[in-house]
Amino acid sequence: MDLSSFNACQLLDALESQQLSAEDCVRFFLKQIANQNATLNAFYTVVEESAMASAKSVDQRRKKGLPVGPLAGLPIAVKDGICTHNVRTTAGSPMLENYVPFYNATVVERLWEADAILIGKTSMDEFGMGSSTENPHFGGTLNPWDHQRVPGGSSGGSAAAIAAGMAPIALGSDTGGSIRQPAAFCGITGLKPTYGRVSRYGLIAYASSLEQIGPMAKTVEDTALLLSSCAGHDPRDSTSATEPSEDYRAGINRPIEGFRIGVCRDHLENGLSVEITSALKQAIDIFESAGAQIVDIELPNSSNAVAAYYVIAPCEASANLSRYDGVRYTERAPTDNLDQMYSKTRADFFGDEVQRRILLGTFALSSGYYDQYYLQASKVRRLIQQDFETAFNGVDLILGPTTPTTAFKINQCRQDPLSMYLADVYTVSANLAGLPALSLNCGFDPSGLPIGMQLQGPRFKESSLLRAGHLFQSQTDFHNRRPA
Ligand code: GLN
Repeated sequence: MDLSSFNACQLLDALESQQLSAEDCVRFFLKQIANQNATLNAFYTVVEESAMASAKSVDQRRKKGLPVGPLAGLPIAVKDGICTHNVRTTAGSPMLENYVPFYNATVVERLWEADAILIGKTSMDEFGMGSSTENPHFGGTLNPWDHQRVPGGSSGGSAAAIAAGMAPIALGSDTGGSIRQPAAFCGITGLKPTYGRVSRYGLIAYASSLEQIGPMAKTVEDTALLLSSCAGHDPRDSTSATEPSEDYRAGINRPIEGFRIGVCRDHLENGLSVEITSALKQAIDIFESAGAQIVDIELPNSSNAVAAYYVIAPCEASANLSRYDGVRYTERAPTDNLDQMYSKTRADFFGDEVQRRILLGTFALSSGYYDQYYLQASKVRRLIQQDFETAFNGVDLILGPTTPTTAFKINQCRQDPLSMYLADVYTVSANLAGLPALSLNCGFDPSGLPIGMQLQGPRFKESSLLRAGHLFQSQTDFHNRRPA
């Protein structure tokens, strides 16, 4: 059976009815990885043995009529910045090249309890810093739609794995767009949950006040399925929300009649290619015919979001990454002088982009500059939050682009970091404001590359985004198309 076109919900149906065994299911995806990973480089680590053993245990329990978890037998890929017990977790960095955690991230623990089956760890930009997964140390990942192009980043491996049929579903993390932008570039669906909705315990930290782990999948319904298993309070993450989580899949079919969808004309008409604008306009028509009301809104401070983000994120990174000093963690450069040991370890084992961000962040936090940079950026962050609060007084969700362009060429932005930063213009605001945001495929450009649409909602209103996204996918078939 060719399972590569099956989405996660379809696989679960086949597994539950025992038309498909967990062993056959896992074996299929491992074979897909064996066939394609040498070319695409979406996985850094594949865990055949433990995956097959877990699959066997699910099958045995099922045959005996014993209880199994809600995701029993479903293969899942996990971004390599999320800690997995006894499975190497590199965060895409030479610094952590040989790091094998002795604990699971809470999300991984929850998936394990749900009987999902980890098949491997996916490629990423180093510590999540980047938008292309052109990782110089571990090698770049290719976009399955066009091997000359990047899959986006930093969760590029998870997105490419799903698009290429190497995994039905995956986890990514999103600090400034790292779930949504690769989802857009690879033609899949990805959700950044509300800040605090999903535990960050065991996520290797880049910028703690901005990031969330979230689901990536072929469909919105699969995304809802995975979110339900991951979300919820975790006492081990002090920023985790106590707000009860939901069965996100259960309510997904409710009609969206009467939904008010906000559109910021400025985002729709300026700075986008014609194909993206026209795909989004068609999406708006679909929502209108489903009974939604389109309302014009303004987000006046959004033009400063990238600037604020690229101060705040490096500041937090400079603090978070100070733990990699060669003493307690990870790699150590051999020298006989303690001071040199610190600096040489950090110079040898951090890549260029990570060093750039640490230097920027350290500078922006230094005395005399703190007020000019970090404090100023924090004020802009507050204004952006207020813009959303005002907008959500009048609308249920906001529709717009995920990215200004479709997937760019390999090496196109690498020599010019600023051009890469600017491409995050539509995604970073949701992180600065802590809001949930969904990206889904809403069409293709003339060269056949997927176009992403973004839906943003008020805090903890994942269910509204998922309902609207599901409605869109029930009326279109973009999400069913796969690369040749
Ligand atoms: N591209 C952004 C950055 O480089 C976002 C990355 C992310 O979300 N991890 O910081």
